[in-house]
Amino acid sequence: MEKIRLGKTGMMVTRLGFGGIPIQRLSDSDAVKVVSKCLDLGINYIDTANGYSTSEERIGKAVKGRRKDVIIATKTFPGTPEIIEKNLELSLKRLDTDYIDLYQFHGVNNKETLDRILDPENGLYKVFEKFKKAGKIRHIGITSHQMDAAKEQVKTDKFETIMFPFNVITSEPAKELLPLCKQHDVGFIVMKPLAGGMLNNAAICFKYLLQFPDVVSIPGIEKVAEIEEIAKLYQGAPKITAAERKEMQRMIEELGTKFCRRCDYCQPCAQGIPISMVMTFPTFVKRLPPDWYLKNPMIADNMSKAANCTECGECESRCPFGLPIREMIKENYTMFEQVKAENS
Ligand code: SF4
Ligand code: SF4
Repeated sequence: MEKIRLGKTGMMVTRLGFGGIPIQRLSDSDAVKVVSKCLDLGINYIDTANGYSTSEERIGKAVKGRRKDVIIATKTFPGTPEIIEKNLELSLKRLDTDYIDLYQFHGVNNKETLDRILDPENGLYKVFEKFKKAGKIRHIGITSHQMDAAKEQVKTDKFETIMFPFNVITSEPAKELLPLCKQHDVGFIVMKPLAGGMLNNAAICFKYLLQFPDVVSIPGIEKVAEIEEIAKLYQGAPKITAAERKEMQRMIEELGTKFCRRCDYCQPCAQGIPISMVMTFPTFVKRLPPDWYLKNPMIADNMSKAANCTECGECESRCPFGLPIREMIKENYTMFEQVKAENS
């Protein structure tokens, strides 16, 4: 499988990687089988996170005996230095390794968090540098969903990689973010190449991404057949056919009008509703085990706030994608109540 240089890290990674979210839904042995299959197919880039429950441990089991051939990326939310330290030790233990190839700040979506990371006195970046010096991590990256925040992060020249959503529907990175990454030699990792499980035409989604030679895509994989299908696309240089182009257009028209990019331009909401979380709730249901979103107060309590929507419509006037936020909040809140009832 073709490899590219991942920005300043200098690491040579396969253009197709593996995203470790959905294996949380599988049994231990099935998860190990899926990850092992990816390695057998030549994939050498595996992404996971401290926050993905069983994912790190299962990946650790799958890479046992093959560690030197695999590039492991994991992440931590930018909490306090003590929390970060604890999270890194836990990741190393779960992954059964003594180093992480790429350690990323997880979900940095605003300037305040970036400033906290880069604070010259007590910034969290310094903690990452300490890890690097100790040989526990090799490279430093960052992940974000927010375009302005991501551009700012790239411009600092502090991060060797950035992970950002990019797919047929969320195609905005192609305009400015990708060229900016190229200019600053920041490796670009594609989050949500299948729009967080909302797109199921793998051929179209990956042929679209294959047009961009400098990106590494990390689809969340749950079945061996899925990764086999996607890996085949990466073996040649498949062109988008006329029929696929037509279908792509149809997908954009159908989903583009209802797909939340999690950019948060619609905020603030006077009722304190975390709009983007409520808007993307169906992607949790598609990819994660119910306990993950029903027992996690961060998700469950925030989803409950959706009941307080007064339908004032102010958020809709701020959404650059013209999404019917009020209608979608209602639909997704109903879905939340349903899955809650089914799992009680
Ligand atoms: S319509 Fe609902 S979600 Fe949007 S700003 Fe008003 S209260 Fe908040
Ligand atoms: S609803 Fe619109 S503005 Fe709000 S996060 Fe989603 S895409 Fe962005």
